[in-house]
Amino acid sequence: MNNTTPDGAVGDLAQIHASVRALCAAFPGAYWRALDRERGYPSEFVKALTEAGFLSALIPEQYGGSGLSLIEAVAILEEIHACGCNGAACHAQMYTMATLLRHGSAAQKTRWLPLIARGELRLQAFAVTEPTSGSDTLALATTARREGDHYVINGQKIWTSRAEHSDLMLLIARTTPRELAKTRSHGLSVFLIDMRLAQGAGLGINPIRTMMNHATTEIFFDDLRVPAENLIGEEGEGFRYILSGMNAERILIAAECIGDARWFIERAVAYAKERRVFGRPIGQNQGVQFPIARAYAQMRAAELMVREAATRFAASADCGAEANMAKLLAADASWAAAEMCVQTHGGFGFAEEFHIERKFRETRLYQVAPISTNLILSYLAEHVLDLPRSY
Ligand SMILES: Cc1cc2nc3c(=O)[nH]c(=O)nc-3n(C[C@H](O)[C@H](O)[C@H](O)COP(=O)(O)OP(=O)(O)OC[C@H]3O[C@@H](n4cnc5c(N)ncnc54)[C@H](O)[C@@H]3O)c2cc1C
Repeated sequence: MNNTTPDGAVGDLAQIHASVRALCAAFPGAYWRALDRERGYPSEFVKALTEAGFLSALIPEQYGGSGLSLIEAVAILEEIHACGCNGAACHAQMYTMATLLRHGSAAQKTRWLPLIARGELRLQAFAVTEPTSGSDTLALATTARREGDHYVINGQKIWTSRAEHSDLMLLIARTTPRELAKTRSHGLSVFLIDMRLAQGAGLGINPIRTMMNHATTEIFFDDLRVPAENLIGEEGEGFRYILSGMNAERILIAAECIGDARWFIERAVAYAKERRVFGRPIGQNQGVQFPIARAYAQMRAAELMVREAATRFAASADCGAEANMAKLLAADASWAAAEMCVQTHGGFGFAEEFHIERKFRETRLYQVAPISTNLILSYLAEHVLDLPRSY
């Protein structure tokens, strides 16, 4: 599988892949299986990644980070998943960075980024989705009302992952009622919430148990007062600001899917060589080989789109189409590889000790989050192919 690692800038990227692999070796399947059973948070894993500097990869050097680009961030998250670990415990620190770096003020960056880079503060929560708006982000109903030098926040978010394991949260809320907004996408604003101060002072968090271990929650805002200096950029422009974060999120999660696909394929190849039925390795049968080969081809093709999207993002070029296609193709590739891997393992694919059923549950999420497959297809139909708007 050596040729599945990025071979463009072999030097640095190969080194990143190797360092991540070395770190992940200390967190084998048994570690993740135990956490999965109790729905525990992988604190030791996140601590190790933080101490090694991987989670501050995107923070500029002047603020204490490594100043790397999304291309290197892709390599980090892909390799975490290819090793059988899971970056979902901490990937938000990378994708929320785009909003803060591109739209935060110099004062905000100076105040927050060094603390995040040193691992003293965690920025792991990104609160967009609401129970009633779902995929229709512009319909979100959480409000932020200006009162003197504060904003007062009321409403509810759902599926805000890692809120219990984060000190800061990036929140999008409505500051102008929808009917008074200048345009369809105007009137939303982004805030950086200090959750250490907010909990018990207007912010409530409820964990939601899901089919995989994901530390996700619902959040309630009841007259939460947030200093106006925590507004990111200009009031009303928040939707535009989170779009850059959402492109980064789609590309990084696509990279995780590539890593998952690599893991499933590696497992399937090893098992198909070793498992003997009817007096020969099952992998000698083309009926077993072909789905593995197909999953491999699908993964490699998706990987090219992930690289293309990351390269465009890193160059600050338009990358909406590529970020969406990368997410679509990589999520399909990881899901196809997961399905193939279960089938290759027969009954053992369902046994917890093989880890495949757990990874299968984990990778299923990416058909739905952070954006569902249908919504990507409708983006491509409307914005790339110029077909009539469907919603
Ligand atoms: C484990 C988990 C973690 C998450 N973490 C976060 C997080 O940290 N922060 C956050 O903000 N959100 C998070 N999410 C939310 C996630 O982004 C949403 O679930 C996702 O965007 C889909 O929204 P929805 O669940 O409301 O589905 P809905 O919008 O209700 O859609 C339901 C189904 O209908 C389809 N559909 C809807 N409208 C159309 C249409 N016009 N045309 C065709 N099909 C359509 C969708 O594709 C989908 O399959 C998470 C979700 C999960 C499950």
